[in-house]
This record gives sequence, structure tokens and C-alpha cells, in this order.
Amino acid sequence: MYTWEDRARAQSEKNQSLTLRPENTAGVVRAYIEHQLGETGQLHKLFYIGPQFRRERPQKGRYRQFFQIGAEVIGPPHSGSESPLRDAEILEMLASLLDSLGITGWTLRLNSVGSAADRPVYLARLRDALAPVVGQLCADCQRRAVTNPLRVLDCKVPGDQPLIETLPRIADSLDESSRAHFNAVCAALDAAAVPYTLDHRLVRGLDYYTRTTFEFTHGGLGAQNALLGGGRYDGLSESLGGPRAPGIGFAIGQDRLILTLEAQQKSLPTRADAFIAPIGDAQNPAALALARELRRALLPGADTVDNGLRIELGDGSFRVRKSMEIADKLARHIVLLGEDELQSGILTVKNFSTGQQTKISRDALAAHLLAGRARPNIKEG
Ligand code: AMP
Repeated sequence: MYTWEDRARAQSEKNQSLTLRPENTAGVVRAYIEHQLGETGQLHKLFYIGPQFRRERPQKGRYRQFFQIGAEVIGPPHSGSESPLRDAEILEMLASLLDSLGITGWTLRLNSVGSAADRPVYLARLRDALAPVVGQLCADCQRRAVTNPLRVLDCKVPGDQPLIETLPRIADSLDESSRAHFNAVCAALDAAAVPYTLDHRLVRGLDYYTRTTFEFTHGGLGAQNALLGGGRYDGLSESLGGPRAPGIGFAIGQDRLILTLEAQQKSLPTRADAFIAPIGDAQNPAALALARELRRALLPGADTVDNGLRIELGDGSFRVRKSMEIADKLARHIVLLGEDELQSGILTVKNFSTGQQTKISRDALAAHLLAGRARPNIKEG
């Protein structure tokens, strides 16, 4: 949380005291320091999900309160935290996440903003180049040129673009180790066939970012097209009084993720794979055992149990008709579990989309429930 006095922007306005939470990375790093996680010597993978608050001019996809899903990979250098492989690993994971959600047409934009040692060299070159031309740029850029010149590169005002394109590039001010780090990130992505676009103007809003910076954008979002963003922040822990702990993280804009899914007419998973309906209270314990078995079944194409079957459990006191009605709203199948089924091991399964009712042996049930599912956990909207 940050509190400050926000100056009135119009004569009719008064100064306001604002308390906002614009991002979580610094908070996570503070928690890393406070809880002495560095002393474990391990690489930590920490996450957060929750609302953020920024002073924004609201528009489609840009809100004053929005939600982020973020993660940070941080640890002492010998834990591998500084390795370019961490950067590539995170980017590969994010690409796979978007793919598994059925999001197509995303672009991964990649840049290196250099190390703390590279920064002053570049900023000096940028300031020198800006000085004679800054008056020709938009009002925001004129302010940024003084407060945070890197952000000039981020400007989207069409009239400013030709001039900004002539400014020095960060890539030309990277020292040998930053250049090697970035090349290694790109080489690992190439080997894994993760597509990316180099964007020499991609910078992060905050000063503490170093080396790799990235953004996944999507055309379906309109002007606010960043679906998620992140970067490396080697040196942040030290600047907060902590031990040396290089790190890299990202934040997915949850609101924009939903907007993208809507634009692609995809919905997040809403239906379970099956609703298990015990017939009679006596079947309740066996129904729980079956639910546990199915929830743990590792399916072909799923690499963790999290991607496995999603099961809802009814109750033996429900009449079959009531179970059918509930199951029809919640799940793609209903599995009836009466005394006969339990004894024979042959279960009655109804598929709600085809209306077909079939007898399936318990051993073949998990595979049957998976059949027809487009991707793990995803229902086409
Ligand atoms: P940032 O730290 O600014 O790169 O934010 C990470 C992600 O959060 C962005 O890529 C957006 O998806 C999302 N985001 C940032 N600001 C907003 C906002 N004002 N409203 C909605 N989503 C946002």
C-alpha cells in the first residue's frame, strides 16, 4: 500500500489523500526478506491473487480496481534464481497456460532493459537525445522525460512515434553479461519453440526492473492489449535491505484474461465431468470412494492431478430424478451408483449432451468421462 497526497488536476478539484496498491512484487520481496526465506538456500516460487488499486483513467480493460494473478521466482543466486533458464521457463509456462485455456493469437513481446550497471549509461544517452526534441513530444512525455525517461519509450501517442523511433535503443547499451543473459533466454525459447517478438521499446513502469522484461498481448483486447506482464528484478531485495536474491515474476490481468476468453467465445470451465449419484444412503460411502478414485485419476494428456477429472458428489437421500436435475446443471455426465452397480462393477452413465445412457465398467469410467472433452478442464462456450 502506498499513501500520498494527490494534487488536484483541475481548479474545481481539491487535493486528495490516496492509498493505493498498484502492484505486489515489492510486497512479495519484502515478505521474502521478513520471513528470511533466503536462509533456506532454496529457490522460492510464490504467488498471489487479488485486487490491485491504481489511479487510472478508466476505459475498456483499464480499471481503478482490477485483479491480478501473479507469481515470483526468487532465491539466492546459487539456487538458480539468476539463470536465464528461469526467465525462459516462466515464459514457456505462461505460453502453455494461454494455449491450454484455448487463447489463440497471443504475442509474447520480449526485451532486456539491462542491469543496474547498464541503466545509468543508457539513461544518460537517452536524456542527451531527448533534450533537444522533448518540446515536440506530448505533454505526458515531457513530464516523463524529467521523472522517468524510460517511460517515454512506452508512449502510444501516434504523433510521437517517428521521433521516439529515433531515440537510442537499450540493446545498444547492454554490457556483455546482460547481452549474454538475454541471448540465453532467447536461445532456450527457440529450443522449446515458444514464439516471441523482440520489442526494443518494451519497458516496465517501475525502476527496479532489470534485464528480461516481457508482455503477452492479445488483439481481442483493443487499446489496452496487455494480458500479462512481468520481468526480472535483480537487486530489489538488496534495495529493501535484504540479502542478494535475484528474481523474476509476472502478473496476469484477470479482468483482461476474462475479456480475452469472451472475445474468443471461450468460457472458463463451468461444468464438472461427472456427477456421482448414490442411490440410497447406504451407497454414500462407496460414492465417496468412487469420487476420490476419479478425482485422482491421471488422464492421458494431463500432467498433474489438477488437470484430472472434476467430479461433483450428490447424496443417497436424493431421488434419482432430483439427482438428474442437479447433475444436468452441474456436469456433463451422471454416474448412477446403486447396490447392483456396486456389486457388478458395471456403472450406469448418462451423457447429458447426447442423452445416451450406457453401461461402463468401473475400470473404464475415467477414460469414458474424458472422451469428448476438447481440452482438460475447458468447455467450449
Ligand atoms: P503491469 O504490472 O502494469 O504490467 O500489470 C500486469 C497486468 O495487469 C497487465 O498486463 C494487465 O493485464 C493488468 N492490468 C494492469 N493495469 C490494469 C488496470 N488498470 N485495469 C485492468 N487490468 C490492468
